[in-house]
Amino acid sequence: MKLEKVLIANRGEIALRVLRACRQLGLATVAVHSTADRDLMHVKLADESICIGPPAPKDSYLNIPSIIAAAESSGASAIHPGYGFLSESADFAEMVEKSGFIFIGPTADTIRLMGDKVSAKKAMQKAGVPCVPGSAGALGDDIAENKRLAAKIGYPIIIKAAGGGGGRGMRVVRKEEELEQSIALTKREADMFFNNPSVYMEKFLENPRHIEFQVLSDGQGHAVYLGERDCSMQRRNQKVLEEAPAPFITAEQRKAIGSRCAKACVDIGYRGAGTFEFLYENGEFYFIEMNTRVQVEHPVTEMITGVDIVREMISVCAGNPLSVKQSDIKVQGHAFECRINAEDPKTFIPSPGTIKWLHVPGGPGVRWDSHVYQGYKVPPYYDSLVGKLIVHDDTRELARLRMLEALDELVLEGIKTNIPLHKDLLTDPAEIRGGASIHYLEKKLEEQAEKEKAAAAKPKA
Ligand code: ADP
Repeated sequence: MKLEKVLIANRGEIALRVLRACRQLGLATVAVHSTADRDLMHVKLADESICIGPPAPKDSYLNIPSIIAAAESSGASAIHPGYGFLSESADFAEMVEKSGFIFIGPTADTIRLMGDKVSAKKAMQKAGVPCVPGSAGALGDDIAENKRLAAKIGYPIIIKAAGGGGGRGMRVVRKEEELEQSIALTKREADMFFNNPSVYMEKFLENPRHIEFQVLSDGQGHAVYLGERDCSMQRRNQKVLEEAPAPFITAEQRKAIGSRCAKACVDIGYRGAGTFEFLYENGEFYFIEMNTRVQVEHPVTEMITGVDIVREMISVCAGNPLSVKQSDIKVQGHAFECRINAEDPKTFIPSPGTIKWLHVPGGPGVRWDSHVYQGYKVPPYYDSLVGKLIVHDDTRELARLRMLEALDELVLEGIKTNIPLHKDLLTDPAEIRGGASIHYLEKKLEEQAEKEKAAAAKPKA
C-alpha cells in the first residue's frame, strides 16, 4: 500500500514529533484525541482530527476499535503508535495490519517475540548479544532444581515475570530460604498483572548503569546502530535525565555491542526503530529487554548522529530501504535531555493546570520538543511530561553547561515543574563526573529528604 496519510495514535509531545516528521515527508496527518485533548498542539496542526472517546486512556488512546474506525473513516494508510499506550501491543499491531493499514513499527510477531522476556533473551543469545546470566527459560516447579540453579548463578538473584513491564513483576532474592516463596509470589503477581504466570531467574546486579543501544532496521536485511544512551538517572524506574554517548564507553565497546544489536535485528527481521536495553557493570554489558518502538529519549541520539529517527522509521515501514549505512554514522559531540514534568520537584505529586507564562530557551545546540504553549491547560489524566529540553555541544562538559543555561532560561509558570531538580542534578559532583549507577538519584533524594526532616526537627535557637 502506498503511504499517503498517517493516523497518529498518541498524544502530547510525541504526537507532535510524529506530525512534524510526516509533514516533512509530504504525508497528510490525522490526529485522534480524547475529549480532554481537543486543545493539543498537534490536533490543531493536523490535516484532520477525530475525537475517539472520553479522557480515560482505556476509553480513548487504548481503545483499539475506536482507533481503527478513525483510520477507516479518515482514509489513513498507516498508524503511528508513538510510545506508551498501544505502541507495544502485538494485538493492536495485528489488528492494524489485518484491517489493511501499515503499522509503523515491527510486525505483530516480532512484538510478541520481544515482548516475552524469555523468548527475547533466547533470540538475543542466539544472535550473540550478551545477556544477564540466568535460567535458560521459564522456571519449572521443581524447587530443588531451582535452588541448584540459583546457587550456580550465585545470590543475590532476581525473579522476573516473562511478560513483565513498567518495573513490575520482579523480586530480588538474597538467601536460599527465601527462594521458594519468592518464586510463588512473583508467579502469582505475574499472572494477575500480565496474564502470564511464567517467571525466570537472573543474576541480580547490585550497582549497574542503564545503557541502551538505538537501532534502525528496514526488515529487508539492513540494520544500523546509532550508538548508545546512558539513562541511569532514574526515579522509580522512570528515566529523568538522559545523555548520549554514555560516559566512559569506548568506540570499541560501542562497535562490539552495537553491531551485535544490528545483527540481531537482521536475524529477527526487525522493522522500524528499536532499543536494546542493557545493564552495565564492571565493564560488561548485559541485555535485559528490547523496546520495539520509538523512545522518549530518542532526541539525544538524533543530536549526536544527525539521523532523524522518526522520519526514518516511517520511511522503512512504508517499505523503503534504510537511507543510511553504518559507515555513514558518526557519533559527534555530546547531548543531554531533561524530561520536564508537571510535578512538584520535591514530592513528585503531579501538578496539572494552566500554563500562564511560557518562555522557551534557544541558541545553538538547544532543542525543545513539547506540545505545550502559553494558555494550554495540562490535563490531570495522563503522563506529566510537558516537554523535553535537549542540548548538544562538542564535549560533555560544554553540553552540561549549555543545559544549565537553557534550564535557567526556561520559564513555565502556572504549574509546578521539576526544573529545580534538574538544576540540582546537573551540578551534582557524581553527574559532573558521569557514570553514576541506576540507584544514584533515589539515594540522593532519600538523603536530601532525611536532611530536611532533621533540620525541621531541630529546635530553633
Ligand atoms: P521492565 O520491562 O519492567 O522495565 P526490565 O527488565 O527493563 O523490566 O527491568 C527494569 C529495571 O529493573 C531495570 O532497569 C533495573 O533497574 C532492574 N533490573 C532488572 N533486571 C535486573 C537484574 N538482573 N539485576 C539488577 N537490576 C535489574
